[in-house]
Formats: sequence, structure tokens, C-alpha cells
Amino acid sequence: LIQLYIPLNFLGVIYRELRQALTDIERMFGLMHEHREIADPTDALVLPPGPATVRFENVSFAYDPKRPILHGVDFEIPAGRTLAVVGHSGSGKSTLARLLYRFYDVQGGAIRINGRDLRQLTQASLRAAIGIVPQDTVLFNDTLFYNIQYGRPLAAREEVEAAARAAQLTDFIARLPDGFETRVGERGLKLSGGEKQRVAIARALLKNPAILIFDEATSALDSKTEKAIQAQMELAAAGRTALVIAHRLSTVMNADEIIVLDQGRIVERGTHAALLEHDGDYARMWALQQQEGEEAVKAA
Ligand code: ATP
Repeated sequence: LIQLYIPLNFLGVIYRELRQALTDIERMFGLMHEHREIADPTDALVLPPGPATVRFENVSFAYDPKRPILHGVDFEIPAGRTLAVVGHSGSGKSTLARLLYRFYDVQGGAIRINGRDLRQLTQASLRAAIGIVPQDTVLFNDTLFYNIQYGRPLAAREEVEAAARAAQLTDFIARLPDGFETRVGERGLKLSGGEKQRVAIARALLKNPAILIFDEATSALDSKTEKAIQAQMELAAAGRTALVIAHRLSTVMNADEIIVLDQGRIVERGTHAALLEHDGDYARMWALQQQEGEEAVKAA
């Protein structure tokens, strides 16, 4: 019986790994019960690990053929660089992330990693190369350790600890009564927005991904937390190719390139300084956010 139990138990772990990874990602993209499986071609290639240049080549996309969402979106994120996407709600920012993760296939143009069209790659190797820090992290009613290890359930203890260190959780964990074994989630310790984001970063880093997608939270944060989150994000993105879906412009100031999306089209692009100089949509959004920030400070 024991002989049977061990493999079954192992299968259980693998099942948990697959099921939970899927659930997390479906939730983070708000795709629960929605997406259709895309099948690998029989001659699909495995994306080798290592630095990744991401290219969106004239990408067009619609969820519903009657309502196009992206129109000829064209950009490149060289390996190790950060590209931030800003734009009004509904402009198509999260759709770019969903396409990169290949929840859907593009309808025009192509997305390439190191020159390879995503459609030629196995989905497993593509998704292994991408870590996602979602808008709103789901914490399970379990220990902090479990919640971090969940990023890669078969990871060894030292790997989970290293990911927690990289996400700057060490001091926080050291102050907890039961350290890593502290229960968190609805029935346990409630984490702040910044702490939750660090757990999300640790989970994503556990995969050691070449590509990192940050879907920044829309919720208002105090400026101290906002600065801390920005610093964490930059640290986690160092040496990786990062796509940042930004809602606050202060978090994207240091990105190598910023693109402004409007109704699925890139209307402006450049560095923060160049975009301010250009004095267009980005400069207006920046002025508005600065003003809102000052009003919030006065109101406090
Ligand atoms: P926000 O800043 O509010 O997160 P966004 O710029 O990320 O917005 P997307 O989530 O990419 O915008 O959505 C772009 C458009 O696509 C929106 O009009 C949205 O209603 C539509 N859309 C998003 N997901 C789906 C879906 N699964 N099916 C149909 N339409 C969708």
C-alpha cells in the first residue's frame, strides 16, 4: 500500500502544482472560466532559458471580432530592459500581458521572443520563462512559506528562502512570531498592500523568469508605500526583461521606454523625460497625477 501511496502522493503534488498555477494566473488576469486552450503544434520548440528579447510586431487583436482592441501595436523590449505601458482604463494594457502569456493568439502581426514567434513555442516553456506579479495577490489560508512556495510548489526550502530574501521579506518574516510558519490569509495575519506585493514578487522570482510582467494595483496607496513598491519592482526587474502595466506614472519614471496606449494604439513613446518634453498626453497625465497627489497630501 505504501508503494502505491508514494507515487499517488507525488502525483497529488504535481496536480496541485498544475492546478494552482493555473488558478492563480486565471485569477490574476480575470480570466476564470473564460479562456480556451491553445494547442501546441506537433513540432513546437522549447524556448531555451536565458535572456529574452520580447518583440510585439504590428500586433492586432480583438476578443470579439466586432470590437477590435489593439491596432498595429509595435514595440521591442531588449533583454534585461523595462518597458512600461500607460493609458486610460480599457486602452488595452492588460491585453498586451495576456497575449504575451499566450492566453490568446494575436490576429494580426506576431509576438516574438528572441526572434521566435510565440506560436512556434511550447506553452510550457513559454510560461516557465514568464513570472507575473498580479494586481491583487491571492493569499491562501496557510503559512507564509506555503504562500511563497506556491509560485513553484516543488521548490526546495532554500529556494523559497532565497526568493523571500530577493523580495526583501527577510526582516518582515524575522519579526513575525512564527516566522515562515505564520499563518496568513483571511483567517490569519492580514498583510498590508506592500507586504502582499512582496509575497507576489517572491512567488514570481521563485521561477527565476527571464521575463517579468508587473500588473500594478489600481488601488490608491500612500506615497511611502508607493515608493517602496516602486523600489521593490525595480529590484525584482533588474537583469530581467520587464513589462510593467502601470496605473501610476510615478512607478514608471525609470523605465527604459514608456508607451502610451489610447484605444489600442500607441500614441506616444519615449523616456519619462522625453515624454514630458513632448508635452502631449503623457505630460498631461503626469500633471494631473501630481495635482491629485498634492491634493491628497493637503487632505491628509
Ligand atoms: P485597466 O487600466 O482598467 O486595467 P486596460 O487598459 O488594462 O484597463 P484591458 O483589460 O486590456 O484594458 O481591456 C481592453 C478592452 O478589452 C476593454 O474595453 C475591455 O472591456 C475589453 N476586454 C478585456 N477582456 C475582455 C474579454 N475577456 N472579452 C471581451 N472583451 C474584453
